[in-house]
Amino acid sequence: MNHPASYQGRRVVVLGLARSGVSVAKVFHQFGAEVVVNDKKDRELCPEADELTALGISVLCGYHPDDLITEETALLVKNPGIPYSSPPVQRAEELGVEIITEVEAAYWLSPVPIIGITGSNGKTTTTTWLGKILSDAGLKPIVAGNIGRPLCEAALEAAPDQWIVAELSSFQLKGTHAFRPHIAMLLNIAETHLDYHGDMDDYVNSKAKLFDNQTEDDVAVINWDDPECRAIAEHLIAQRFPFSLYEKLDAGLYIDPPYQRDSNGALISDETEELAERQIVFRQTDGEETVILPVAELGIPGVHNAANALAAIAASISAGVTIEQLRAPLREFDAVEHRLEFVRDVNGVKYYNDSKATNSVATTIAIRSFTAPIVLIAGGLDRGSDYMELEPLFKEKLKALVAYGQTSEKLANVANLAGLASVEIVEPSEDAESVLRQAVKRAAAIAEPGDIVLLSPACASWDMFASYEQRGRIFKDSAHTL
Ligand code: ADP
Repeated sequence: MNHPASYQGRRVVVLGLARSGVSVAKVFHQFGAEVVVNDKKDRELCPEADELTALGISVLCGYHPDDLITEETALLVKNPGIPYSSPPVQRAEELGVEIITEVEAAYWLSPVPIIGITGSNGKTTTTTWLGKILSDAGLKPIVAGNIGRPLCEAALEAAPDQWIVAELSSFQLKGTHAFRPHIAMLLNIAETHLDYHGDMDDYVNSKAKLFDNQTEDDVAVINWDDPECRAIAEHLIAQRFPFSLYEKLDAGLYIDPPYQRDSNGALISDETEELAERQIVFRQTDGEETVILPVAELGIPGVHNAANALAAIAASISAGVTIEQLRAPLREFDAVEHRLEFVRDVNGVKYYNDSKATNSVATTIAIRSFTAPIVLIAGGLDRGSDYMELEPLFKEKLKALVAYGQTSEKLANVANLAGLASVEIVEPSEDAESVLRQAVKRAAAIAEPGDIVLLSPACASWDMFASYEQRGRIFKDSAHTL
């Protein structure tokens, strides 16, 4: 197999700075390659460049030089976000230069097995949860990849008894060739990122690359409820470890009694009184069944999180974690920040921060995760949706809506059509923070003991905030200072 050392004395171009670019440039430099780093951004927007130039690595910022990719270029390591239509990438394709992403280089380097996690939704939650389970079981995982820490850094640091737990995007996977995770997890496939991939086939094929190099010794954890995932599973060589919310499987992980869904795949039985009876069950190929724990005891709410738990359990069992070791971290797991994150209980009212919900699908998932009456705080950047699809859900689950931001009128309209007794709009102001603080105060005034105040905006934050993280932190701070 390839290794960064095989590029000693040869030209390696790293396209795109950012953390993974810096990490991969350092690796190839360390192994003696002639590394050139290039980023279209101006030099003052590339603070990472200083560290590399200090090491003697050549960094070119502000443009793509015409002679960047030459006949002598042995390798192009491309930032996952850079499209294949970008001129240097096109040039590399014309010249037959090998093109990879940092994930591939990390695989070449890694002395330890990798657990690769991909899917359209739930990657960060599942990756973090799996990291906790493995860590509690003493397996010393290094959690890295799309979640933040560059994989090359993890691969360089890994001691022989460790595991790398890698969150992987379709963009990262598209640039892999030999990458072979010992445990590969495909959570789900939804229509997304088509602007980058061009069409659904390219997106699905990129996700499927996770399994391309696996052998019979490896494990493929597959969401059996998702038709796209099942179709991919048909062609796999690795041992399949399926999981399902809706079906009792002959072998694998499932929920008993299963959740139910309609012919369109939509969940029809969610968090009702049945929840208390639902158990997570592991059935081995010989038919032996073990009850792991009731769904109601999972540390985070929501049917989607039950699916994330099943995936994390399947991978953990495959990595050698015992059923006994699983239970505590399944119960004790806290939400990842901004994803249905419990903030505080004020006089019997629970506050949840779901600022990551930037579209109505995510907000639907959040609302469906609770049985208690909800006072929803929502609104943000207007991308043209009328949010009418939320009306039945608002009617069924909401006690009140407090709307703010560009979409406030539209959301209030939907809430009024749904017949909510209380619908409020917070007046816009130059001071975005005070608007959100005001929304929290109004929601607090409406909520009664036993209710939930949920920030799940159904919109991006950029009409008022720098990021969903900033929005979520202001919400949390407001709730803490009530
Ligand atoms: P990702 O890293 O793939 O973006 P996250 O774990 O950060 O996923 O979750 C982001 C949002 O995706 C959550 O707030 C929730 O709305 C939704 N989500 C999480 N898990 C699932 C799942 N298994 N199926 C569908 N949607 C999910």
